[in-house]
Amino acid sequence: MKIKDILNNEKITVSFEVFPPKQWDKIEKTKATVREMAAYNPSFMSVTYGAAGTTAGFTEEIAREITECGITPLAHLTCLTSTGDKIESVVRKWQNDGIENILALRGDIPEGFVFPDKQYYEHAYQLIRKIHSIGDFCVGAACYPEIHPESSSRVEDIDHLKEKTDCGVDFLTSQMFFDNTVFYNFREICAIKGINVPLIAGIMPITSARFLEKSVKLSGCSLPKKFESIVERFGSDDNAMLHAGIIYALDQIIDLLANGVNNIHIYTMNKPLIAKKITEELAGIINGQK
Ligand code: FAD
Repeated sequence: MKIKDILNNEKITVSFEVFPPKQWDKIEKTKATVREMAAYNPSFMSVTYGAAGTTAGFTEEIAREITECGITPLAHLTCLTSTGDKIESVVRKWQNDGIENILALRGDIPEGFVFPDKQYYEHAYQLIRKIHSIGDFCVGAACYPEIHPESSSRVEDIDHLKEKTDCGVDFLTSQMFFDNTVFYNFREICAIKGINVPLIAGIMPITSARFLEKSVKLSGCSLPKKFESIVERFGSDDNAMLHAGIIYALDQIIDLLANGVNNIHIYTMNKPLIAKKITEELAGIINGQK
């Protein structure tokens, strides 16, 4: 099923993101994680793509497992380190395997990376055009409520987002954010700019202070005082932080739903407990409204 149809048919969607392993011998473990999470019946599940493009087969294998669980998969694809020909062969293979939904991304530029030549795509909009030239796919893309770290201004960032969306984007999934006001402002700017595709809010439950240091601060997301206090108070106690992080995420989600944001994507970090807790707590709130 195409994700654009799910977004049109279900009033509220809650989807999960998983990442594939880095080594093939861990694939069965990741598949078991997928099965555990699929049991919570998300609207769809996305599977990320290795930054250097070396693990396309892993993404495909996990997407297949998601399908076998009866859930619609969304396969991420990055273009930074692949030629147009390589992209074409991956997309055609996915097409033959029945993958209908692709999140088209550029990928992060590794330090010192220089674009080799014109056979490589510098931006996601080129990948989006390429995917549409190959077949009938539902294509999503990334957006950044706090602007992409490489953009020098909001104006520049939103102009590029508009250009990207006009290339045939069916929905946008946001980078994580911890202050919902940031997302509401971004939603308004998109509407003013005429970016009218569904916006899916990306929510990252922070379950350890170490993870916060490593990933979130690098992404450039701002942290509200309320969240920093939680980390200061509970960050040194893994169990307390795990539960506080999930409760903070739930609080964000409830506020988003109350403010008319109906599409929520959970960055699960392959932790079934996150999927379980969020699904269970939201069940009473959203089931009557789907
Ligand atoms: P783009 O849309 O190309 O934008 C990148 C930058 O270039 C922005 O600053 C933009 O304003 C600018 N830009 C765009 N078009 C132009 C233009 N025509 N001229 C000049 N500048 C332009 N990474 C992975 O490696 N694997 C994943 O699976 C993955 N999944 C992700 C999922 C989500 C929801 C998000 C938010 C990010 C994900 N990423 C993933 C990270 C992503 O690849 C990086 O954030 C990357 O730096 C930008 O990708 P993009 O597709 O947004 O790029």
